[in-house]
Amino acid sequence: MGLETTTKLKNGVEIPSVGLGVYKVEEGEQVYESVKSALEIGYRHIDTASFYQNEEGVGRAVKDSGIPRDEIFITTKVWNNEQGFTEALEAFNRSLTKLGTDYIDLYLIHWPVPDKYKDTWRALEKIYRDGKARAIGVSNFLPHHLDDLMRDAEIRPMVNQIEHHPKLAQTETRKFCRDHEIAVEAWSPIGKATYLDEPLLCDLAEKYGKTAAQVVLRWHYQNGTIIIPKSTRASRQRENASIFDFELSGAEMEKIDGLDQDHRLGAHPDNFNYE
Ligand code: NDP
Repeated sequence: MGLETTTKLKNGVEIPSVGLGVYKVEEGEQVYESVKSALEIGYRHIDTASFYQNEEGVGRAVKDSGIPRDEIFITTKVWNNEQGFTEALEAFNRSLTKLGTDYIDLYLIHWPVPDKYKDTWRALEKIYRDGKARAIGVSNFLPHHLDDLMRDAEIRPMVNQIEHHPKLAQTETRKFCRDHEIAVEAWSPIGKATYLDEPLLCDLAEKYGKTAAQVVLRWHYQNGTIIIPKSTRASRQRENASIFDFELSGAEMEKIDGLDQDHRLGAHPDNFNYE
């Protein structure tokens, strides 16, 4: 078991359970080298977005890797100012061009822009039906957004990508997703490395001969959550992928659950500045 491990989405598509995030990785040399090294290490899942402005570099690295396109899972997202039916279709085509591909593995609505996300979703349904995205989903949707979306949707979201790490349990949203067969992907899965000195995580790291980041990523994995840790450094990319050779006990999983403080590092979806 390793980076080839996948999670099955409800339409049967398999998504690698560990991917590489590239938020705040610069377009050009930096993103190209990051993705290239991750692919060499064995990553087969890259998480980008039009907002990150690095899709071209991602696409070049994928192409130059020599790995067949259908062995690499690419996620990208429609940004807030690209939402609406026609706008989202255009945004999708721009992403395809930048990534240099003719299909996306997973296309997500980046944030639930009020009064827009339903029209945007109709565009994603069309993209999916046209066979240009293998799966479609949302990001930063709370249960009330999902409820509202699903009332009119013909195709239900397959994924919800949310901020989630030990200090932000997202219990309600995760339960809602579980009940509706929506796979959960954690963004900032290691909490942007802001509290890896937490004593509990350090103790467990020592016990298993692992790092605190690996303990947190393993906790996600054992919870069935898809993870997309970001690192531009090959050594950390390797570290973040090496979580398949130890197992946390039920009691240890619960202790990590106990770190929850409902502590967000990013915006709350209901208070986001959608201007
Ligand atoms: P992460 O939790 O992945 O943390 C990344 C930070 O931790 C970087 O500063 C990185 O530095 C450092 N780091 C990585 N690995 C280790 C390690 N093993 N030990 C110590 N430090 C480490 O946060 P992100 O916010 O980047 O989230 C991951 C991905 O999620 C993003 O890249 C993006 O793809 C996605 N995302 C989606 C959002 C959405 O709204 N849908 C919002 C935010 C993120 P360095 O690179 O120097 O190693």
